Amino acid sequence: MKIYDITVPVFEGMPVYKNKPEKQPSFTTSTNGHVTESRIEMDAHTGTHIDAPLHMINDGETFETIPIDNLVGKVKVFDLSRVEDGISRADLEPLHIAEGDFVLFKTRNSFDEAFNFDFIFLKEDGAKYLVDRKIKGVGIDALGIERSQEGHPTHKALFGANIIVMEGLNLKEVKAGTYFMVAAPLKLKGIDAAPARVLLFDGINE
Ligand SMILES: [Zn+2]
Repeated sequence: MKIYDITVPVFEGMPVYKNKPEKQPSFTTSTNGHVTESRIEMDAHTGTHIDAPLHMINDGETFETIPIDNLVGKVKVFDLSRVEDGISRADLEPLHIAEGDFVLFKTRNSFDEAFNFDFIFLKEDGAKYLVDRKIKGVGIDALGIERSQEGHPTHKALFGANIIVMEGLNLKEVKAGTYFMVAAPLKLKGIDAAPARVLLFDGINE
């Protein structure tokens, strides 16, 4: 059995959304005698993380409403590295996405070393197609599932259908196929997102 850790590392100076300095995590380490303790200050959307509907919908559900059962199980990884600009309905139609699927999109983003302002995102018609297919969740290898779209239609379409949104994955080493996923977010209550460790297991059948 092979394990793929598709989580990005969290460190000071890591790639953050649009390189905004206020989104950089900071670690403050103090040593008192033999005891060392660090304090972490970071955005809940840092690196690999899962969004809750509250992120884009006023009065939307908060993070703890996402059941862990929906974050553990079979996922389908699709290789969309030929897609330029954004993933559209036309890119998704040939993939035979079915009701209840959890899908992860591998794009050329996985090969970026630094934040790319032209990252591949999920277009509104692609999101609406996933809503029509009644999927369970979608993950992408970008820090955002959309890129400055007026009104955030991609997030809103997905959250409106209770589809889980996972961002900031790194799928560089992962080939298209079916895997068993364990996505373990921090058990944060009352907020709009949580950082997560996400692992894919190859060779486990549900
Ligand atoms: Zn987010």
